Amino acid sequence: MKLGINLNRESVILKQIIKQLGFPINEGGIICEGRDFTFNEESKYILNIQQQELNVANKHSKIPFCDKLKFELLEQIVNLGHPIPRVSFYPSGKKACLVLTHDVEWEYTINELINRFLPIEESLGFRSTLFVRPVCADYGIKKIRLLLEESITKGHEIGTHGDNDGKDYYSHLSFEHIKREKEIMKSLNLNVKGVGNHGGFFLKRNWSEFEKAGYSYSRNKITQENLGGGKGFSYGTAWPWFPVIKSKQKKILEIYGHFQEGIWIDHTNEKGVQTLAGLTKPINLLCSGVEKHLEELLETGSQYNSAVCVIFHPEDFCDPKQISTIYHNFLIEAKNRKYWVTTAGELEKWWRRRMDLNLDVDYNGKDLQIYSQNSSGFTIEIMNIEKVENLFVNEKRCKPNKTIAL
Ligand SMILES: [Zn+2]
Repeated sequence: MKLGINLNRESVILKQIIKQLGFPINEGGIICEGRDFTFNEESKYILNIQQQELNVANKHSKIPFCDKLKFELLEQIVNLGHPIPRVSFYPSGKKACLVLTHDVEWEYTINELINRFLPIEESLGFRSTLFVRPVCADYGIKKIRLLLEESITKGHEIGTHGDNDGKDYYSHLSFEHIKREKEIMKSLNLNVKGVGNHGGFFLKRNWSEFEKAGYSYSRNKITQENLGGGKGFSYGTAWPWFPVIKSKQKKILEIYGHFQEGIWIDHTNEKGVQTLAGLTKPINLLCSGVEKHLEELLETGSQYNSAVCVIFHPEDFCDPKQISTIYHNFLIEAKNRKYWVTTAGELEKWWRRRMDLNLDVDYNGKDLQIYSQNSSGFTIEIMNIEKVENLFVNEKRCKPNKTIAL
């Protein structure tokens, strides 16, 4: 019997199942193709599917339900009793990933990052991605350089947070701006790979434009609401994905933003009136439940091998002490749960390597043979290992362990 396992083949199987269930496939490779859904429409659509067809949750996006389907399918296959080798989702056999990103809006943000937030990450051995505004009037290129000196040398990553020549955040409206911003970053000696625009300002055509400008990943689909306990698992998945436009898969990788602290800020003033973010200072309170929400995000992520991506600014209308304490506790929790905590760029690199990994497997009832040309650094988990008498990896005999490092 010949078994071949890699992520590409797994996603083909997943798509077939979803098609069988009668769902159209969308730009995320999962549902809704041919319709340019807004986030809210899509949320409603997912909600509808979940309630009517899958019955897995009563609130949209609370569970990455396509991933859940895939796990259920795998369980069925494992129950057949054959040995199943699976490539580890993340480096060193880690089961879930947390991507740390910051949108650098103001000089205030830079100072807070350097003095408070990045040291928290560094103390735990983590690094993050900082999306900076190329022409920001508030901090400008000089400050970006300072940020670079302070942070890049320590291993943090820089990406682009479009700001339309410093005027507003509407870079997504013109390819010329997208291209120019990439060039400005290059003039700073930065060959940035990722672009994460402000506030979800994004048009579907931007994926092609980002690709053309030379970006290889995008963090532009982000959760915009905290209502209903939604975890922001849009498209039913908590993995990065390659957008599909007009049935063609793009090369750019989309890393979805599952959480941003900005939408959890309570904008109600002392008189009980809702105010706009940033206009009334100080607004110190976060909505209740944010810590629980973050904990649940990590809990769900652990269950489905998710790549959870978070955005912390920090904003100048929050109490930095309060946010940084929450952030610190969140990172400690991720560490305790053995998450691979990393930058967006590192996840992209790993994800592409994993997609390209070819693993061929032969099993004759007692001998399990695994062949692979490009698997160094990967960990393989073998389910139903008790059915294996002899294990060979690239024709070399190994001790049949549940987990093997290649
Ligand atoms: Zn922003």
